[in-house]
Amino acid sequence: MKVLYKNQLIDREQAQVIDIEDRGYQFGDGVYEVIRVYNGHTFTLKEHLTRLFESAKKIKLTIPYKKKEITALVFQLIQANQLTEGTVYLQITRGNQSPRQHDFHLSQQSESILTGSTNPKAVNRAQLQQGVKATLIPDTRWLHCDIKSLNLLVNLLANAQAHEQGATEGIFHRDEIVTEGSHSNVFIVKNKQVITHPANHLILNGITRQVILAQCAATGIQLEEREFTRKELLEADEVFFTSTSTEGQGITEIDGQIIGDGQVGPLTKQIQQLVFQEINKQCGK
Ligand code: PMP
Repeated sequence: MKVLYKNQLIDREQAQVIDIEDRGYQFGDGVYEVIRVYNGHTFTLKEHLTRLFESAKKIKLTIPYKKKEITALVFQLIQANQLTEGTVYLQITRGNQSPRQHDFHLSQQSESILTGSTNPKAVNRAQLQQGVKATLIPDTRWLHCDIKSLNLLVNLLANAQAHEQGATEGIFHRDEIVTEGSHSNVFIVKNKQVITHPANHLILNGITRQVILAQCAATGIQLEEREFTRKELLEADEVFFTSTSTEGQGITEIDGQIIGDGQVGPLTKQIQQLVFQEINKQCGK
């Protein structure tokens, strides 16, 4: 198994090179992306790299490579690990700035550290047909959720809480407003209209979300980006999560309350199909 370290592929066993003073390790001072691979091809890599550079810019982190170079490195990594189905994880931290100090301006020495790895875990499409349970959790994250930051503690705690309660994932809400999932975006369907939270500082603008917005626009499915309440969520005809790891997943129960008729709904299924079509278009054999 090869991993990416800076701009080189090295053996996983040799990747003991992360410095104890790395700011990613000390502060979560960095950003990341997870990209899907189908049939050995990346899906929406360009969009993921655009978001990686945007996230980095928002935290004033300089990525010392061009998108073109990172693209080539990702392709090399996929090839070296013979990855056909799975994900590529990319992260970039602000590097080592010893001794540990908060202000990253204090030393010019630090070099951003790009790392990457692969995971041969395919999407569980059978599970996508079944639908999952979710639980509502107060969104106590910061106000920069548009940045794909390494700081995921609130998300991790929400996910753990969801699992403890027998649910697959948490759905965050700020007072009455539903924002997103603990590692996904949330959509509701009411009277054939699809609704999702606007892409602002309160959510991550998911790449899967962006694919769905484009697909709905192209196929005439009515979609509105607007805030919706917990009440609207629980009274929706259909609810679904979207993310790179799960594509689109119907939610059939929230905190013991059945959503719609308790089955993955027709518009959810239609949107899942539109996502599959786009995957086949970009990554077909
Ligand atoms: N919101 C959050 C908080 C997430 O962690 C994720 C997945 N990383 C998403 C949304 C979905 O984003 P994407 O479709 O790009 O995977």
